[in-house]
Amino acid sequence: MIPGARLVLLGRQGAGKGTQCVRLSRHYVVPHISTGDILRSAVREGTEFGRKAKEYMDAGDLLPDDVIVGVVDERLGLDDTRARGFILDGFPRTVAQAKALLDITQPRGLDLAVNLEVPREAVLARLAARRVCSDCGANYSVDERPKYDWTCDVCGGDVIQRADDTEEAITRRLDLYERETAPLMAWFTERDLLVEVDGVGDPDVVSDRLVRVIDRQRSLRH
Ligand code: ADP
Ligand code: ZN
Repeated sequence: MIPGARLVLLGRQGAGKGTQCVRLSRHYVVPHISTGDILRSAVREGTEFGRKAKEYMDAGDLLPDDVIVGVVDERLGLDDTRARGFILDGFPRTVAQAKALLDITQPRGLDLAVNLEVPREAVLARLAARRVCSDCGANYSVDERPKYDWTCDVCGGDVIQRADDTEEAITRRLDLYERETAPLMAWFTERDLLVEVDGVGDPDVVSDRLVRVIDRQRSLRH
């Protein structure tokens, strides 16, 4: 196997990107870098930056490009990513962010951007049902509840609906995705960096699909 990985996972919110990124990061033994997780932890810590970020997030808006690029630049500068690579989740979300990413990752750049494709109607339903642990971020849903009430199986924290998972904010994020993020697919395709993977189906089956496509593309490119 080619060591490490330098991947971007794209796809609508609620496509199961988070879960698949965690699995890919174990498989390739590289850090999983989720901008949403980084921002939510800043919100929990109550930093000045966290308070600003929360306003955008609760409204379903994107943070300004220069702000989020700064966050990612800092994270990618740490030793673990320099040695093994990274799996980026939730970034880039705009063409401006994608351009900045290619600059930041010079000279090695990216292996691949993977579009995990799940249709809009399917993710709307998933997001409305999503529940998360307010302490550790573990994912649940109204159909897959924790064992005891709404207490997290992993850490005992409260399992809640995210403030930005209301129907209004979800619709707004999906509209924003079509407008800002869908053009990224064309952008990565032009640079011969995009592959599509069908994200519908059992999470194990989707994971297998992802690893198969990624390994094949990487072996063709090395
Ligand atoms: P979801 O889980 O709904 O896909 P994330 O957890 O990735 O969304 O992000 C939650 C929120 O954090 C976004 O709605 C946005 O406000 C902010 N955010 C995360 N990543 C970015 C980014 N790359 N650019 C701008 N804002 C971002
Ligand atoms: Zn928890």
